[in-house]
Amino acid sequence: MLTGHYGPAFIIKVIDRKVALWMLFIAVQIPDIIWGTLILTGFEKARINTNLLSNPLELYYMPYSHGLLSSIIYSIMIVAILLLFPYFRKNIGSACWIGVAIFSHWILDFFSHRPDLPIIGDKMKIGLGLWDYPLEAVIVEGAIFLGGAIWYAVKVGGFKRKTSAIFWSFIIVVLLISSVRELIMTPANVEMVAISAMCFYIIATLIIYYVEKNENTKN
Ligand SMILES: [Zn+2]
Repeated sequence: MLTGHYGPAFIIKVIDRKVALWMLFIAVQIPDIIWGTLILTGFEKARINTNLLSNPLELYYMPYSHGLLSSIIYSIMIVAILLLFPYFRKNIGSACWIGVAIFSHWILDFFSHRPDLPIIGDKMKIGLGLWDYPLEAVIVEGAIFLGGAIWYAVKVGGFKRKTSAIFWSFIIVVLLISSVRELIMTPANVEMVAISAMCFYIIATLIIYYVEKNENTKN
C-alpha cells in the first residue's frame, strides 16, 4: 500500500488541527521510509517474483521496518523525541496523534500485505492479503485516500482557487499513477521500488506543505 496510508493522515488532521498535515504525511510513511533505507543498505531483503498471484514484490525479510513489535517501539520512540520540543510539550495530544499516524501504517499494511509482516523479529508473519485481489486492492486504497482528502478539504480546506487546483490535481494524478502502477506495471528491481517510493513521499510532502501553508493564510 502506498497512497492509502495518507487517508489516516487527512483524518488525523481533521481531528487535531494543531498537528501539521505535512508532518502526518511523513509519519504515515515512516515504516516505508525505514524500509527503503534498509533495502538500499542491504539490512532488509525483498525480490521481484512474477510467479506471485498479483503484486510481484516479495517482501521476505523486513523485521525492522514492518515488524509489529518494532512498529510499536519506533512509534513510541518518535513520540518521545517529539516531546523534547517545546511545541509538542505544549501539545502532547499532537505528538501522540503523530505516533498513531506512524502505527496506522502497520494496520493498513496488515490488511493489504500477504503474510509477510512479522510480529516479533522475523517470526510469526501475518497479513490478510488484499494484494492478491488487485482490482479490489486498488479500489479500497483509492477510496481511503480520496475519502480522506475530501473530508480534509471539506472540514479544514478553505483553499484559494490556485491552492484548490494544486491540491485536487495532486490527488487525481496520484490516484491515477498509483492505480496504473499496481494494476499494470512490474518493477525492474527492488532498489527502483525503494527509490521511486521515497521520491514520491518527498514530492507528496512538499506539495502538501505548500497547500497547507496557503490554507492557513486564508483561514
Ligand atoms: Zn509499508
